[in-house]
Amino acid sequence: MGPDAIHIDANTRLIALLGYPVGQTLSPFIHNTAFAAQGINFAFAAFPVPPERIGDGVRGLAALHFAGAGVTIPHKQAVLPYLDELSPRARAVGASNMIVRRPDGTLFGDNTDLTGFLAPLLPLTDRLRGADMAVLGAGGAARAVAYALLVTFRPKRLTLIARTSSKADMLATDLTAFDERNALEVHAFSTARAAVRGARLVVNTTPVGMYPAVDDSPWNDADDFGDDHIVYDIVYNPEETRLLNDAASRGAVTIGGLDMLVEQAAAAYVQWTGHEMPVDVVKEALRRRSEMLHR
Ligand code: NAP
Repeated sequence: MGPDAIHIDANTRLIALLGYPVGQTLSPFIHNTAFAAQGINFAFAAFPVPPERIGDGVRGLAALHFAGAGVTIPHKQAVLPYLDELSPRARAVGASNMIVRRPDGTLFGDNTDLTGFLAPLLPLTDRLRGADMAVLGAGGAARAVAYALLVTFRPKRLTLIARTSSKADMLATDLTAFDERNALEVHAFSTARAAVRGARLVVNTTPVGMYPAVDDSPWNDADDFGDDHIVYDIVYNPEETRLLNDAASRGAVTIGGLDMLVEQAAAAYVQWTGHEMPVDVVKEALRRRSEMLHR
């Protein structure tokens, strides 16, 4: 079920995942599948780094000559002070999901969640430019999503819908500099119906609907969706969530989180290895893995 064999020797370039916990992550599977498919001498392993040791973890990458690292919950913001340079988008979002160790030993942080999130939307640019949009959730992923939507599509209205309003308020404040059209609004779920009904794009960034709670949805009324909607759920397990099934049943275009997962990984992979990730091979391997696990 895992990737084909990778070979580790004295010249293997290592990539770490820094997270806590890391037991559920798909990143080693994704990257090692790609390394094996391309026959390149890299290996990817996950490291559970408790929050109080994250500085040691990041500095260790440079000392141990790692090619780089992926960064996941809860460290995406915490790694920033330990990096020598940030991409403009990582600085804007205030979070880094990947680190490259350069040959001179310096550490560069980027945010490829943005690239991954946008990949399935870019072919729909004509429908999205200047449109009304709504984002469910105001956590780490919502930061990257809201920033990407603001700067890419310059929406007329971008409504952040959250159960903890202070988080959505803080996110809106942090993104003010990128909100040239004054598009950002904040709503509780209870007051957001008109915003959801009127949005061309609705993005779920909450974990609601994730396996095993597959009967849950972050937006319970399917009748609020219609054939003008594009509904994007960044949850990738299952690939078709209840939210997406509800939206599709009312004629909406739907996008699942698997493309984002693979494309954010691909945008990191090329920076670590200099090779384009074989995304079709990886997606097929993920589907086979998921079928076997849920059989
Ligand atoms: P996070 O920082 O913990 O944020 C989660 C957000 O969802 C918070 O705003 C939280 O609200 C809200 N939320 C949680 N449960 C809720 C509920 N029952 N009702 C309403 N809101 C709820 O997590 P994250 O890093 O943003 O990740 C969120 C999801 O995105 C996860 O499922 C993750 O797997 C997925 N994701 C997918 C990709 C991909 O590549 N496809 C990439 C990144 C993340 P509170 O603040 O009130 O708790």
